[in-house]
Amino acid sequence: MKALTYHGSDDVRIDNVPDPKLMAEDDILLRVTATAICGSDLHIYRGKFPGMETGDILGHEFMGIVEETGSAVAGLQRGDRVVVPFTISCGACFYCGRKLFSACETTNPGRGTIVNKKDARSGAGLFGFSHLYGGYAGGQAEYVRVPKANVGPLRIPDSSLSDAKVLFLSDILPTGYQAVVNAEVGAGSTLAIFGAGPVGLMAAAVARMLGVERIFMIDHHAYRLEFARQTYGVETIDFDEDEDPAERIVEATDRRGVDASIDAVGFEAKGSTTETILATLKLEGSSGKVLRQAIAATRRGGVISVPGVYAGFIHGFLFGDIFEKGLSIKTGQTHVQRYMPELLEHVSQGRLHPDVIISHTLPLMDAVRGYEIFDKKQDACRKVVLVP
Ligand code: NAD
Ligand code: ZN
Ligand code: ZN
Repeated sequence: MKALTYHGSDDVRIDNVPDPKLMAEDDILLRVTATAICGSDLHIYRGKFPGMETGDILGHEFMGIVEETGSAVAGLQRGDRVVVPFTISCGACFYCGRKLFSACETTNPGRGTIVNKKDARSGAGLFGFSHLYGGYAGGQAEYVRVPKANVGPLRIPDSSLSDAKVLFLSDILPTGYQAVVNAEVGAGSTLAIFGAGPVGLMAAAVARMLGVERIFMIDHHAYRLEFARQTYGVETIDFDEDEDPAERIVEATDRRGVDASIDAVGFEAKGSTTETILATLKLEGSSGKVLRQAIAATRRGGVISVPGVYAGFIHGFLFGDIFEKGLSIKTGQTHVQRYMPELLEHVSQGRLHPDVIISHTLPLMDAVRGYEIFDKKQDACRKVVLVP
């Protein structure tokens, strides 16, 4: 079959690879009908994510049709249409029992990126996400093996819901949702969202649905900010034009700051030359640019919610400011399985329209170009969907 594979920094290719096979009794084989490129794939694509090997198949946002089922798979049959969460979770461990699916302690034989790990078990295995997360083949391919198929895949029986409408249940829609739930905002709240990429846009959509009153959105791609302003009524701040977005936000909120901030950017945040150089030299684990802005932009007693991915340490991390302001911080990979059913309901009922953010739909064979335009933000790219 054809699949998008990793060959090194800025080098992904469409290769011919062996077809996947069932390996456990609760696996299914899926024929992929739609898959997307995520901001997390960009960290890998840029060579910034450790644990990748030549030939690894990328992709963790995908859906398709069940081709084959293992003998222990209940509730799914050949021909069923499903969306697959990017988190591989057993459904039976300590964490799955608490609906903390991305913390599943049985599916990742790798070690994750945690620095001070001690002897604690790893969090969940993830599709297409390096050998630190289990080395599972991803879904930017014609076929994919889906382990733990009794816990992950969500059936979409309603054929009037297009792939484009439901595909993002696999990752960015639950991620935007968890970011807003963690931010503890609702009707009448104020919220700052750093990053107008797919995750930031999904967070804005959810915040609007939940009645958040004012949403500030920060980025430096004018076309993304303009889309968010038109679609979700956000107030935009371009950090190329305005060096200190947090200052603008404090000014605009009676010198308090917003109730909560969401960091939908992560460890490659732009804007600090020093940190970019230190991170490239591996003297700094992550850029703290957005976290510092979020701390400064959030009012006392507020929340910082971080769906953006981080790894390692940050020197300029103002923990004293967090303490003085009494801020809470919530982070982590999304507990996708937990939110999929309720979000499917919101999409079915027309309360959320995640497909509007798609700017490019390309054949899987053009995936390399898809990575280039999404990475370089060319051609007003917001989100790329690939069709095998
Ligand atoms: P993206 O790269 O398309 O979007 C990131 C946006 O942040 C870009 O538009 C970029 O211009 C902007 N940005 C860069 N520096 C900034 C700064 N200093 N201030 C404000 N904006 C800045 O990616 P995406 O798909 O939206 O993903 C965003 C992050 O979410 C990534 O780190 C990704 O790995 C992570 N993610 C996490 C989960 C999870 O489970 N927690 C799931 C999906 C994605
Ligand atoms: Zn993702
Ligand atoms: Zn588990």
